[in-house]
Amino acid sequence: MENTDLLKPNVDHSKFWQNAHQYFDRVYQTMNLDPMWRECLSSPKRLLAVSCPVKMDNGKIQVFTGYRAQHNNARGPFKGGIRFDPSVNRDEVMALAMLQTWKNALVDLPFGGAKGGVVCDPKKLSMGEKERLTRRYTSEILPVIGPVHDIPAPDVGTDAQVMSWVLDTYSMMVGHQELGIVTGKPLALGGSPGREEATGRGVMNVLRAFLATQNKKLEGARIAVQGFGNVGYHAARLLEERGAIIVAVTERKSGIYNELGIDIEAAGLYYRERGELTDFPHCDAISNEELLTSDCEILVPAAMENTVTADVAPHIKAKVIVEAANGPTTPEADEILRDNGVTVLPDILANAGGVTVSYFEWVQGLQNFFWSAKQVQDELQKVMERAFDAVNAKADQADCDYRTAAYTIAISRVAEASRLKGLFP
Ligand code: NAD
Repeated sequence: MENTDLLKPNVDHSKFWQNAHQYFDRVYQTMNLDPMWRECLSSPKRLLAVSCPVKMDNGKIQVFTGYRAQHNNARGPFKGGIRFDPSVNRDEVMALAMLQTWKNALVDLPFGGAKGGVVCDPKKLSMGEKERLTRRYTSEILPVIGPVHDIPAPDVGTDAQVMSWVLDTYSMMVGHQELGIVTGKPLALGGSPGREEATGRGVMNVLRAFLATQNKKLEGARIAVQGFGNVGYHAARLLEERGAIIVAVTERKSGIYNELGIDIEAAGLYYRERGELTDFPHCDAISNEELLTSDCEILVPAAMENTVTADVAPHIKAKVIVEAANGPTTPEADEILRDNGVTVLPDILANAGGVTVSYFEWVQGLQNFFWSAKQVQDELQKVMERAFDAVNAKADQADCDYRTAAYTIAISRVAEASRLKGLFP
């Protein structure tokens, strides 16, 4: 019989949801925490499913399904991105909301974790359709979001323009401009300098800090990047700026390889203009699978979850994997990589730069007092290096891998906040 207890662990959940719980359970069991809190900490506090009827350009009405999952708010308001993608589903948003809780705690932001999404292909929507969908979705989730309740941000398939529509819709509904409702806004609407590149910059900060522990540098490091959207492009660009050689990049359908290094600015421009990398000059074609096992020292998965699987893991040549995407490595692959001596810098650490600058943007919006790009970059670097140092020290002290160390720190912070607050009533 189908299990309808949506928010509880059961066999009907997707692989990605199970993976997220497996990572949590594996660490929780070793932490000597009160078992009573285990279910509280792993269950989402709230899951909202909404249907969004939208008038399409051809005059017909199409109904889109959307979600907002709020995982845990023991440490502060919920915070997390909104994804527009055909693969969005209930379990995915719940799993991503849980990951976001650990990420926010690990970099010590006063936020809980959330995630939202709409099942749609944004590439197939006109600007008008995308705007109407965004506004309708925002109004449907309005009862659960707010500047001190839940603050959305961009994720796969959404950007600063989408965030502007979220801001405007919310502001129209409450009758005044509310900058704190959303982050990842454009600069002209109270966004923060450096937010767009922030996740990629954080990836660079964490990788550089890790290499320093090995007496290595970014200069000359051979790096392959899977996914060439916001995160993949900016990570590749900033790594290249510091002397790394980006030998391969891929997007959903196409990819390029050049062992001497790809001109990332030019490839970014080409991809934005054409929507694919096919025939980019001076490069060979490469598939997503070939990229993962290509001849490089560092692999940066920056696309979607579950791309580094147990099938591909034994063939990966890179000795370091930096998880710029959320949940790219399955637990089975994680084990194989560990046995093969591959260091994995986990998502909740490596891609936390985006939410960190979102936090800076939220603070600026609430205060109506804005920072310089330099201030944002310096503060981001401090947060990312401090988080890496804490994870590195924990991994040394407990003689464990970086993911276990990162989860241990994050879970203990959320557990402590929950314990101190107690249960209501
Ligand atoms: P995006 O929509 O800007 O780009 C996604 C890129 O990945 C595109 O180039 C797309 O073609 C490619 N892609 C999609 N599916 C793929 C597949 N199966 N194989 C290879 N490439 C594929 O999204 P983004 O904002 O760059 O997000 C990428 C990842 O980073 C996601 O996991 C997201 O949750 C995570 N993330 C994003 C942010 C942020 O600030 N945007 C912050 C933290 C984590």
